[in-house]
Amino acid sequence: MIDLHTHSLCSDGFLSPTQLVNLAAERGIKLLSLTDHDTLDGLDEATKTANQNNIAFVPGIELSSSWEKGDIHIVGLGVDPTATALYNGVEQMRTHRQERTHKMIEKLIKAGVSSKIADIVHFYGRDHLGRAHFARYLEKMGACRSEEAAFKQYLGRGKPAFVSSGWLPYTEAISWITQAGGIALLAHPQHYHLTSTKLDLLLGRFVAAGGEGMEIQPLHSTPTVHKQLLHKLDSFNLMGSVGSDFHGKEHQLTSFGQPFTIPDNVRPVWLDPRIQRYTGQLELT
Ligand code: MN
Ligand code: MN
Ligand code: MN
Repeated sequence: MIDLHTHSLCSDGFLSPTQLVNLAAERGIKLLSLTDHDTLDGLDEATKTANQNNIAFVPGIELSSSWEKGDIHIVGLGVDPTATALYNGVEQMRTHRQERTHKMIEKLIKAGVSSKIADIVHFYGRDHLGRAHFARYLEKMGACRSEEAAFKQYLGRGKPAFVSSGWLPYTEAISWITQAGGIALLAHPQHYHLTSTKLDLLLGRFVAAGGEGMEIQPLHSTPTVHKQLLHKLDSFNLMGSVGSDFHGKEHQLTSFGQPFTIPDNVRPVWLDPRIQRYTGQLELT
């Protein structure tokens, strides 16, 4: 089993890197990547635990970036976490997230939420947070019925506590990843709800900027979308990657480590030498 897209509590996941890797081992995952949002913080711990569990571990990251008016996520696999461009870029994103966190707290208080919302930074033990953290905390403190309601009332685009993400362009994210020796992949293309023409436009530019692959998540797409994405891999000559986007949420626990099949004509990213560096003699099929 292979899973090249997961999260820990170093970003918005619920498990520590150690807990995540241990669970992956239990589920029979042989090749794993931790791809936390905009941070490299969990990679050392995950690498150590993976070594103890005999799991091949690929250092990864999921970078938030902007494309036209929306945000897109770029997964970087096989990155050197000490590479200057990536390291500095991630530091810059952390500062940006910190500023955004404090702005969101201010706006929530202005919108009538109890000033106790400021405790969110103590609760998580850091102040570089994202909207998912706010949604959970608002639900926890009883200010909203659910995480979904938190987005509808406060956090969504156009709502009172919305602070535009202002991420750097996707070209920048791709260049940090490639400069760090990694492979840049378009994450979960099915999430952007693009028309086929728009997706073609995005993929064309993505490839021109140095992007080399795209995620296909057979378990997360409808058969029609999955088929369309397989076709795009082929027409843009992209490598395919698979990952569950596991965050350790309750409802994801049963499906983590579930087997999947990908067609023979897909060029899997894990056969690329930049990933093979981490797999050694491992038998993956
Ligand atoms: Mn997330
Ligand atoms: Mn994502
Ligand atoms: Mn993700």
